[in-house]
Amino acid sequence: MSEDLLSVFQAGLEQLGLPQQLEEAFLLYRQELLDWNTRFNLTAIKDPGEVLIKHFLDSLSLLQAYDQQKDIRLLDIGTGPGFPGLPLKIVRPEWRVTLIEATGKKITFLQHIVDILQLKNVKIIHGRAEDIAHQRNYRGAFDLVTARAVSSLSALLECSAPFCRVGGAIVLPKKGEMGEELAQGKQAASLLGTRLTADVPVTLKGLDDGRRLLCWEQYKVCPLQYPRSWAVLTRNPLA
Ligand code: SAM
Repeated sequence: MSEDLLSVFQAGLEQLGLPQQLEEAFLLYRQELLDWNTRFNLTAIKDPGEVLIKHFLDSLSLLQAYDQQKDIRLLDIGTGPGFPGLPLKIVRPEWRVTLIEATGKKITFLQHIVDILQLKNVKIIHGRAEDIAHQRNYRGAFDLVTARAVSSLSALLECSAPFCRVGGAIVLPKKGEMGEELAQGKQAASLLGTRLTADVPVTLKGLDDGRRLLCWEQYKVCPLQYPRSWAVLTRNPLA
């Protein structure tokens, strides 16, 4: 099973135009993730093959919607054990990556991975996105903002838009039909100075189950009152 998925992962790297040598870093990352997972609850995915596909390749799928081979500033909100920010950093070492995570034990793990993989220009922030977004030095400071599996679309847009520079992009991985959530997200976006520019299906083998990448452009500065507190923005989403 796992070996089959290793070849699916290798095929995914090839499909994305990434060199197979990168596999070594991912195998080390996986080993540490599964080892630490026996002591800390970092991921519900415990099968080694599935880690390659559902965490690593899924993180890399973002490149199907957005890619730059220069030193862009990427922010990953609610990164957990590093997804999608760290896999992207491994394959795009020139990117300056900032990871925000609310849970302390995950911060310790993130720092460990950054150290053992000797990743440069990775900033790990322990805190809540809705608080950090109000700090002046982070406002409008990123070219690309992403967040995977953290909250509803409206809530994620409210947390992401304040960090994104005008002309920058927000790419949010989602799955399946979104119906009302997408309609609400689009309305929220208009209040945040953001608009949907593309809805890109993920076409990588092993991930062809309705995954998509919602791409937004920050077309004007996000109003200063956003984001609101987490309790307010989740209980009373913008619409
Ligand atoms: N993005 C990772 C992934 O795709 O595997 C982790 C997803 S996990 C379901 C959600 C993560 O977001 C958790 O680690 C949680 O601590 C973090 N989180 C939730 N709300 C947050 C917030 N407001 N600010 C920062 N981190 C947050």
